[in-house]
Amino acid sequence: MFAALAQKSLRGESLTRAESFSVLRCPDEDVLSLVQAAHLVRRKHFGKKVKINFLVNIQSGVCPEDCRYCSQSKESKAPVDKYRLMSPDQVEALADAAVANKASRVCLVASMRGPSEGDLKAVEAAVRRVKEKYPHLQVCASLGLLDEGDPERLKASGVDTYNHNLNTSESHYGKICTTHTYADRVGTLERIKAGGLLTCSGVLLGMGETEEDIVDVVFSLRKMKVDAIPVNFLIPVQGTALSDRNEMTPFRCLKILCLFRFLNPSSELRIAGGRELHLRSLQPLGLFIANSIFIGDYLTTGGQEPAADIRMIRDAGFEILGENVPPPEPPLADEVRILSRRGN
Ligand code: SF4
Repeated sequence: MFAALAQKSLRGESLTRAESFSVLRCPDEDVLSLVQAAHLVRRKHFGKKVKINFLVNIQSGVCPEDCRYCSQSKESKAPVDKYRLMSPDQVEALADAAVANKASRVCLVASMRGPSEGDLKAVEAAVRRVKEKYPHLQVCASLGLLDEGDPERLKASGVDTYNHNLNTSESHYGKICTTHTYADRVGTLERIKAGGLLTCSGVLLGMGETEEDIVDVVFSLRKMKVDAIPVNFLIPVQGTALSDRNEMTPFRCLKILCLFRFLNPSSELRIAGGRELHLRSLQPLGLFIANSIFIGDYLTTGGQEPAADIRMIRDAGFEILGENVPPPEPPLADEVRILSRRGN
């Protein structure tokens, strides 16, 4: 049955809602068949390539919005760093780190409702600096809600992609945020498209949403023909309103990723925040569905060591986008220590 869904997806046809629920409700013993079917779609559009993205929190902990999941919201008690927009020198240094970690895109994220005139000028200056040094490094900006004309300005400075996640369904949105609406987010996405930027918009799951909500939002993203879809799984940070949520399992994450792949076959599908926490030892299976990951730390929480991510990609038979295929790597230092303790 999942092979038939893959064939529909390969032909560019939509799944029905009933078929979408069948993916989310796949029996655990059938998950490998489901992953195999989703992999056919991933392989057609992206081959063996994995895109690496590097997150930079260019303004932290000072957001006036009340998103309940977010450690940088005005309502959050989480002890996160608080600072205003980084200087071009600071952003350039972090772009150096992105390139050193084999990233083909650097994602500049600022905690704010939307950029002021001064914010836009600061971001434009930083982006110009990054693009002068690394013309081939893609730059994604994520600055919240945009007004008319903002996307065109950002594009002129060198921004390639703008990130603005829908996060959840329209009907669930009011339960996770009250200071802006789902319609506000859709409006910004429409302005991004009209302004000629590539769109990056995804979800944050594990916030009490139903399967109906998941199907609603994946269909919305399909309808909007979003270029890149980050799928985040909630990292419940102490001090946020959703700190007691822990709804994800590795198999559930895989089923969700398969649904997003079937319905958005040619979109860059990124396993984003929460990958390590919720997929755990099944992270490599996620690469057979998604073609993109973040490397390094997330905005306010730590990620897996970059060397471990790169090793995982290569061990699973994939290649890093933009990099020539390297020779096999020696074991990581930790593995050597474990082997020597065992007397091998
Ligand atoms: S708008 Fe962004 S930074 Fe601000 S509270 Fe919401 S998720 Fe956090």
